[in-house]
Amino acid sequence: MYDVIIIGGGPAGLSAGIYSSRLGAKTLLLEKLTPGGQITLSSEMENYPGICEVKSGIEFMACWPEQAQKFGCEIKSEEASKIEIKDGEFLITTPKNEYKSKAVIIATGSTPKKAGFEGEEEFVGRGVSYCAVCDGFFYKDKIVAVIGGGDTALEEALYLSKIAKKVYLIHRRDKFRAAPVTQKKVFNTPNIEIIFNATVKKVFGNQFVEGIILNLNGEEKELKIDGVFVFVGMKVNNELVKDLVELNEWGEVKVNLKMETSLKGLYAAGDIREDSVKQVVAAAGDGAVAAINATKYIEKEEE
Ligand code: FAD
Ligand code: NAP
Repeated sequence: MYDVIIIGGGPAGLSAGIYSSRLGAKTLLLEKLTPGGQITLSSEMENYPGICEVKSGIEFMACWPEQAQKFGCEIKSEEASKIEIKDGEFLITTPKNEYKSKAVIIATGSTPKKAGFEGEEEFVGRGVSYCAVCDGFFYKDKIVAVIGGGDTALEEALYLSKIAKKVYLIHRRDKFRAAPVTQKKVFNTPNIEIIFNATVKKVFGNQFVEGIILNLNGEEKELKIDGVFVFVGMKVNNELVKDLVELNEWGEVKVNLKMETSLKGLYAAGDIREDSVKQVVAAAGDGAVAAINATKYIEKEEE
């Protein structure tokens, strides 16, 4: 029996693990992949306070699990598949085990959305990618396209511009939503060609992607490229809790300022919660808030 079970080992979950275990709560963190979360897909992390030297997401997250374990947080590589309430306790099921706890912190984050063009699924791993850090290396001195107009698309286009010969940055509108400072860098990078008002109709090729067809101002345009990187936003991973707690219209978990959800003893932290600004610093803050309040809740229940 654990005091707190945290589901998800990204910045929110790991921060919750550090706080909860340091506060003396018997804590288990379940992470289905390697701990670190989606920031490990990022080539650059430079906006977390205290980071004066730019680091990759992987380097930045490297010691968070160790820090949590130092205070006694157990970390297991297991995917939570179900959350139930039995006899007033939480029961978490994974393919290997069942675990019980007094409180749960859900920190399962979000995952990249698909853009929805023809051939997108067919060519995943063969020229269609959602991670520049993972796959950028394969496009050294080649031509790639990046789709999207948010922070991720522009930052990753900049990263790819240092590896690839040329980067087409394709956006469906005529304005980016990325931070102005990032836009400025993109506009000043000679090997990034911006194509506004365009959507990708399809990717084509034999074994690997060889080109894309765009809808550009109502006309079709073909580009010869070697790879497509899709960065068109994220969807929240709410499957475990969608029938247990109140969600907003985008499927994000509703919380109050204590990160309490509508279900007593269940807390949400990070990208999964309503009004998250979807930043590492905010996710880490949420994790701390959730853990402090979860431990207070347990103490109160035991009085
Ligand atoms: P996540 O990081 O998504 O972590 C959730 C974790 O839960 C994952 O490890 C996942 O495997 C695990 N999980 C999911 N379901 C289960 C389950 N059922 N059982 C067990 N484990 C599960 N933010 C910044 O502040 N600065 C940046 O520079 C920045 N750059 C970014 C670049 C990219 C390419 C991307 C994609 C995002 C970037 N962000 C950046 C946003 C930032 O990464 C997120 O806001 C942050 O990681 C959210 O943390 P989280 O812990 O809520 O969720
Ligand atoms: P985002 O901000 O939601 O941007 C998604 C982009 O993709 C938008 O420009 C959108 O176009 C476009 N798009 C959506 N669906 C599309 C489709 N089907 N086809 C073509 N284009 C499509 O997502 P994000 O860039 O992944 O960022 C997610 C969050 O993480 C944001 O809050 C962001 O600020 C944060 N983040 C922060 C940093 C940082 O602080 N350095 C870095 C990365 C991410 P429209 O503009 O027309 O809607």
